Amino acid sequence: MRVLVADSINEKGIAELEKVAEVVVDTTITPEELLETIKDFDAIIVRSRTKVTREVIEAAPRLKIIARAGVGVDNIDVKAATEKGIMVINAPESTSITVAEHTMGLMLALARKIHLADKSVKEGRWDKNKFMGIELNNKTLGVIGMGRIGSQVVTRAKSFGMNVLVHDPYISKEVADKMGVEIVDLETLLKRSDIISIHVPLTPETRYLISDRELDMMKDTAFIINCARGGIVDEKALYNALKEGRLGGAALDVFEEEPPKDSPLLKLDNVVLTPHIGASTVEAQRDAAIIVANEIRKVFEG
Ligand code: NAD
Repeated sequence: MRVLVADSINEKGIAELEKVAEVVVDTTITPEELLETIKDFDAIIVRSRTKVTREVIEAAPRLKIIARAGVGVDNIDVKAATEKGIMVINAPESTSITVAEHTMGLMLALARKIHLADKSVKEGRWDKNKFMGIELNNKTLGVIGMGRIGSQVVTRAKSFGMNVLVHDPYISKEVADKMGVEIVDLETLLKRSDIISIHVPLTPETRYLISDRELDMMKDTAFIINCARGGIVDEKALYNALKEGRLGGAALDVFEEEPPKDSPLLKLDNVVLTPHIGASTVEAQRDAAIIVANEIRKVFEG
């Protein structure tokens, strides 16, 4: 069996695979090279750089498994894979805590203006009065989507003394009660929350879930955080709301276009931006690599 590792993954995952297969690591492979070489492989592992398109899948007569060492499979043509009986696997649990911790980091950055204070000190200033923040304690957090990541955010927010509202049509009352959260409709969440954090997948239903109408319902002082997917928040509407003082601030790890080259959001002080690093910790990447390597091993061993 031959496995192509097309994006860099943790070495522990590679060691696991080497027990059952010949592993070729080529993390700079181009789309053209992939089309040519994929015919010689039984499995491919990607993260987000490599796109496994229908064209790639059709050029791969031996391929049995496409693995994403992470969560989203947006870069894999799952329909084309399914049509050819190719298994698509991922490691959805591996990054939940990491993304939740990043979300808390962004929340604290917004609340205490850490990004601005850091810049100011480095520029030689000591503007203590400029950086009056707010406490998270006793604030209301609105979590949109309480799945794997959303529920980890809830646990952490509660330990900060926050009251938590959740909008997730697929969560039962029993689960909500167990988590100690109040389930509300989207409108109520938007109106009552001091901070809103988004943890839903990007689907036709959630595209532009947060646009002009929703931003208008939010408190003028509210913060919004998106560590889920670009396209859930309408960035043009977000920019206008921030610019016009109808919203307190925003933190984005994901963008409609990545990188967000000419976005006017880059110029706003009340915005904290990170380059889609929500899942980027040593622990999450190690776990993702080991999980998909084990799955591939199980398939190869029958
Ligand atoms: P999950 O499937 O466990 O949870 C998603 C939750 O959203 C579910 O509980 C579902 O019921 C709910 N939901 C679906 N549609 C909804 C809607 N219209 N309104 C309200 N709730 C809705 O997913 P997860 O593992 O928690 O991941 C959440 C998101 O985080 C995904 O979009 C994923 O791509 C993203 N993510 C981002 C990074 C990053 O690097 N920033 C890393 C990992 C995951």
